[in-house]
Amino acid sequence: GERQPTNLNQLADEYLRLAYHGLRARDKSFNATLLTDFAPDLPLLEAVSQDLGRVLLNLLTNAFYAVQKRREAQPDGYVPTVSVRTRPLPGGGVEVRVRDNGTGIPEAVRQKIFQPFFTTKPTGEGTGLGLSLSYDIITKGHNGTLNVETEEGRGTEFIMELPG
Ligand code: ADP
Ligand code: MG
Repeated sequence: GERQPTNLNQLADEYLRLAYHGLRARDKSFNATLLTDFAPDLPLLEAVSQDLGRVLLNLLTNAFYAVQKRREAQPDGYVPTVSVRTRPLPGGGVEVRVRDNGTGIPEAVRQKIFQPFFTTKPTGEGTGLGLSLSYDIITKGHNGTLNVETEEGRGTEFIMELPG
């Protein structure tokens, strides 16, 4: 893909809606609260927008899956919530955080999530390629970093840092 000046606020907003509406089209009973916190002063990044869009879609698809799973296990009083935040980094870079209050990831699983074909999902629901592909796009494709913070039973946050 071609590099082009990319507005991560716009891209994240677009893919958040896309992921959510895609899911609701298949499951009318699914509801989640979407939260966004987009920095108004975010710089544009020279990036392969299509690739960063795939990363966002992978992270968001995983986030919605995790909140659905938690809702199945614990429906009472639970408000499925997925949020996206952006902020400028020193030196012209951008940080994007995708957070969910879903199942969280046990430590033994967390160690493997970036490996190709690793999945905890039933056949047909996951290929195990989303995060390994995302990791390559961020690190090799854009010189960035992709990290995760998670707490079992409480939720997960993926943090990507993209240099300017
Ligand atoms: P897939 O979604 O096809 O399983 P991924 O590479 O996207 O493959 O994710 C690998 C695994 O990481 C998932 O199967 C799941 O166990 C775990 N995972 C990823 N994102 C989350 C999340 N937001 N909450 C809980 N578990 C997650
Ligand atoms: Mg996935």
